Amino acid sequence: MQVLSARATSSADAIRTVFDFFSKYREGVDDKDVRADLTFGNPHEMPLPDMVRAIKARMDPQRPDWFAYKTSEEEPREVIAKALGQETGLPFESDDIAMTPGAFGAIALAFSLLLDPGDECIIPLPGWFCYATTLRARNAVPVQVPLAEDTFDLDIGPIEAAISRRTRLVVVNTPHNPTGVIYSRERLAELAAMLSRKSAELGRPIFILSDEPYRRIRFDGAAFTSPAAVYPHTLIDYSYGKILLSPGLRLGYLAICPTMPEPDRTTLREACATSQVAGGWCFPDAPLQYAVRDLESMGIDMDELQRKRDRMHGALTQWGYQMTKPAGTFYLWGRAPKGDAAGFARDLAGHGVFVMPGTLFDRPTDFRISLTGTFEMIEASLPAFQAAAPA
Ligand code: PLP
Repeated sequence: MQVLSARATSSADAIRTVFDFFSKYREGVDDKDVRADLTFGNPHEMPLPDMVRAIKARMDPQRPDWFAYKTSEEEPREVIAKALGQETGLPFESDDIAMTPGAFGAIALAFSLLLDPGDECIIPLPGWFCYATTLRARNAVPVQVPLAEDTFDLDIGPIEAAISRRTRLVVVNTPHNPTGVIYSRERLAELAAMLSRKSAELGRPIFILSDEPYRRIRFDGAAFTSPAAVYPHTLIDYSYGKILLSPGLRLGYLAICPTMPEPDRTTLREACATSQVAGGWCFPDAPLQYAVRDLESMGIDMDELQRKRDRMHGALTQWGYQMTKPAGTFYLWGRAPKGDAAGFARDLAGHGVFVMPGTLFDRPTDFRISLTGTFEMIEASLPAFQAAAPA
């Protein structure tokens, strides 16, 4: 007897590989034999003390309505509108901001605002493994479009070729998980020009969802341009979980580009709160919202992260691995020896070292290392990488 709805079944199918990996990747390995788990972007050290203090302070009620039902609170939206305005050069107002449980909550909100059943959404290949599942849960259609081979830059021709009458949305993830590539302003302007032309042809706008949770995690002073700066029909999603390395604190936002033509900007602004309520009260907990004023200026030690990137990237390239040097994010992406990521991950696991095989990103030839492991873990992992290096 069938229990699940067709919708739940099809979205579950899309994430099955990831769930199987989650539940099995350390199967049969004793914790004491694990030298370095570099699989997920999770913390391996105690959280930032300033962050903990800021949140604890907001747990202390200051008014009877402190823990009343909260939608998007005015104060964090004002703080965010100002900060995002400074980062992008765009005149954001607090009403352009919806507070969400992380970037994931903002992505789900954007999908529910923009996509009808059967609408198509273009997503990058390789790309984060939850887009397709979240789209299928809304009966929307994920259309994977490969990034440029080797450089992983946006490839405008294939995106244009994938646009159909049902295309409503293009997800642009910059800095990009898993490759760490940051798209240039010129390339984004090229995408914008193509989407404007296609939107005019279709007689309705194709939106961009700019997935920017790693926006502040950049190396070597790399510049960043949000697609919103060049394309007004853009929504931005952001998460504090990355820069604070605390993904279990579900805090983020969806921002509507303030240069979006009317009536679209107002329509979207007004639809956020109702859609979040209908989705099951999808707002961050009140104390997290109160803490945004303090959290906005905090972040992990970027010098330390850069040292980890340089150590790992330097060692692996020296041993013959083909690696993409990330300009942002806390990931390192490369080609597995013999193009067999699953076999490579198994070899490393035999040495107590864990990485994410590219199968989870629909690129079975490649693998991802998370640099959120400690420096000691990274050092401890290197002999295993050397032993498994390409011949
Ligand atoms: N987008 C990308 C590209 C990600 O890598 C992630 C998390 O790994 C998210 C969105 C979701 O971020 P959060 O869990 O902080 O909401």
